[in-house]
Amino acid sequence: MPLAPYACNPALSLGRRFHEPDAPTRTVYQRDRDRIVHSTAFRRLVYKTQVFLNHEGDLFRTRLTHSLEVAQLGRSIARALHLNEDLVEAIALAHDLGHTPFGHAGQDALNDCMRAHGGFEHNLQSLRVVDLLEESYPQFNGINLSFETREGILKHCSRDNARALEALEPNGVGRRFLDGTQPSLEAQLCNLADEIAYNAHDIDDGVRSGLISMEQLLEVALFEDHYRQALRDFPDLQATHLQRRLLFETIRRMLSAQVYDLIEVSQASLAAVAPASLNDVRLAGPLLSFGEAARSRSGQLKLFLFRNLYRHPQVMHTMDLAKQVIRDLFNAYTHAPHEIPASFGAEGVDVHKAQCEGATPLARVIADYIAGMTDRFASREHQRLTGQRLLV
Ligand code: MG
Repeated sequence: MPLAPYACNPALSLGRRFHEPDAPTRTVYQRDRDRIVHSTAFRRLVYKTQVFLNHEGDLFRTRLTHSLEVAQLGRSIARALHLNEDLVEAIALAHDLGHTPFGHAGQDALNDCMRAHGGFEHNLQSLRVVDLLEESYPQFNGINLSFETREGILKHCSRDNARALEALEPNGVGRRFLDGTQPSLEAQLCNLADEIAYNAHDIDDGVRSGLISMEQLLEVALFEDHYRQALRDFPDLQATHLQRRLLFETIRRMLSAQVYDLIEVSQASLAAVAPASLNDVRLAGPLLSFGEAARSRSGQLKLFLFRNLYRHPQVMHTMDLAKQVIRDLFNAYTHAPHEIPASFGAEGVDVHKAQCEGATPLARVIADYIAGMTDRFASREHQRLTGQRLLV
């Protein structure tokens, strides 16, 4: 499939921070994807979760399966828009590498602990993982990904952090947050694929957990429409023992509707703006989007999930315990840094000091160490250091 002129062309990549000769059979983005799949941080995603903790059930999404779903949706949309599928896949597989254990509760707690030391932000942390924290090459820290993959990984960034990045890497991946330009379409696409993926799978996991029901979901227009259509086409799905199939069929239709809406609306704006190069893309506004109706329906679903699932008392209770685990770990390592394995993170310290003025190096090492933990390692480590068993 030929690439569109506005797609990222591997031959025009801005390259890697440390020069390496080209691979004989793979483009830069294919090679980035391969490096991500082989990284330690990628394997940890198996045991990291977002809404439901790892020990709560074997069938809930993990960060790994979530990342695979984002990559699948992203590639399929990229193909239709003639964007670079390999780059989309690389960004999607790496987009959550910097997440702490215990999902957003973990990130909030760690951010609180790091307030006096430059804060903690998972997008920036994903970049730290691929730029610094992976230790597998003799010549450099990190896995030396291309500019375009790193740009996609850093989907949000505060101005302060962007300035710090810019000081370290002029005209680098922090630049666009200062001058208000756009990232590649492949990066824009990954954000939207992420949203489609978690809206759909959180419905599935939420119903599976018993915390929300299909009856409740009927108040969400996007769900209700596809639920009714599924029942109209397959009336037998009404039967109690076929409820899971009904749920799957509804979610499948919702996914398709959102994907096709995104493709159609984006094709129209790409045709209208007709960007002739990646540079035109950077200077235009966001070019990929849902239509008005789909956008507001997706917003309604998000609000529903927020109120009924993410804020469910049972989820909130677990998340409060998870926050305590993170806070306790942070305090324990602050008072006993020797509990952190000597092999860990020594490389990251000086670089971060340069990146974030005012950062206390020890605090950042601790944050890197905690952020890298899986849910179950964090729980076990908490028990080892405090004698308390809060989770699992
Ligand atoms: Mg995600």
